[in-house]
Amino acid sequence: MNVQKKLEILADAAKYDASCASSGAKRKDSSNGKGVGSTGGVGICHSYTPDGRCVSLLKILLTNVCLYDCHYCINRRSSNVRRARFTAEEVVTLTLDFYKRNYIEGLFLSSGIVRSADFTMEQVVLVAKTLREVHDFRGYIHLKTIPEASDELIAQAGKYADRISINIELPQQESLKELAPEKNIHRTREAMGHIREKISEYAPRNAPAFASSQSTQMIVGADASNDSHFLQLAGDLYGDFKMRRVYYSAFSPIPDASVRLPLKSPPLIREHRLYQADWLMRFYGFKASEITTKEQPNLDLDIDPKLSWALRNRAFFPIDLNKAALEILYRIPGLGVRNAQRIVAIRRHTKVRISDLIKIRVSLKKCLPFIITADHQPANYELDPEKLRAIYAPQARQLELDFTAIQVPKKEVIGGEF
Ligand code: SF4
Repeated sequence: MNVQKKLEILADAAKYDASCASSGAKRKDSSNGKGVGSTGGVGICHSYTPDGRCVSLLKILLTNVCLYDCHYCINRRSSNVRRARFTAEEVVTLTLDFYKRNYIEGLFLSSGIVRSADFTMEQVVLVAKTLREVHDFRGYIHLKTIPEASDELIAQAGKYADRISINIELPQQESLKELAPEKNIHRTREAMGHIREKISEYAPRNAPAFASSQSTQMIVGADASNDSHFLQLAGDLYGDFKMRRVYYSAFSPIPDASVRLPLKSPPLIREHRLYQADWLMRFYGFKASEITTKEQPNLDLDIDPKLSWALRNRAFFPIDLNKAALEILYRIPGLGVRNAQRIVAIRRHTKVRISDLIKIRVSLKKCLPFIITADHQPANYELDPEKLRAIYAPQARQLELDFTAIQVPKKEVIGGEF
């Protein structure tokens, strides 16, 4: 099989991995193998480096042959797909070739598991090592590591990569046992802990001797886990392992799917709400345990999780914008981090009024029932959570409608001000 054919198969096989943050890039159909050099060419995706730059990456698998049988994965042992395998040398040559032609700025390399976790990891490391040491490659490298591989090999991967990631895939061990019997959540966390130690060890030296961050991906809707399971785990990963990003990838039925999987994807809005909740944990000071409750372990699909929290905690409001601490301002629906900071800056000089909020483009529709300003006090009827929810939630839909068709509202941007 020639390299172009392998590239088609192994780039296509890599597209299900969201942990390189490529999901925001506009994709073109790469199945005909054309379009190299555009954002959607064979195996080329967009990603974000740890310092926030957007880069084009060659996103491929070393091989889609795999010993494991993860039911949610198209490359699993029992799947009937075309298989291919690059040699380490072929990946190095492809990367350099694309890089020199300015098609890409880096490489995202993952792999199915051949022979053993250690053997596979050695091959992945060999690619990165050859690029860095033999060809003095200065581009971005993101390596997907295998938790079952030895700590020594994972450490070597970190030595050559800018970012490394291990996909935790499902938030509960029982689900893994059912759908990915060879994987173990405890071993994955152990490996993440090891990476975290290495990152911390090298970070103060300010030398690029180890990857600067790690990320992971979880699949949403392949098992019975609720949103609380996802968010609790994500909260732990951010806290315990200083995870840079947790990606939530809505499960989509794959060709030749296992019978253990649901027939339908979860509504896309669920993935969107999880990203919003994740954003609340990372930037707004919310804990996972505040975002969902025992009674409501799943996020409200009709309204964003911050508004949902505010409606459950109506006694917390209204908040006086002229007095409240910054962390309290972060809790107001419709008020993002930047605008909360702007309000604190404004009130150093003058009393905050509605006209100030208009100037900084605060979403007044969302905000007003929750705030007090020098010239505004919410009316009593606005304090009723049920009435408020009715204002913000979309109109009720008939039960026979297909809820998988609910799309993410265009104006809502993941991680935006909300
Ligand atoms: S280890 Fe599991 S998820 Fe990874 S390639 Fe193999 S079957 Fe797919």
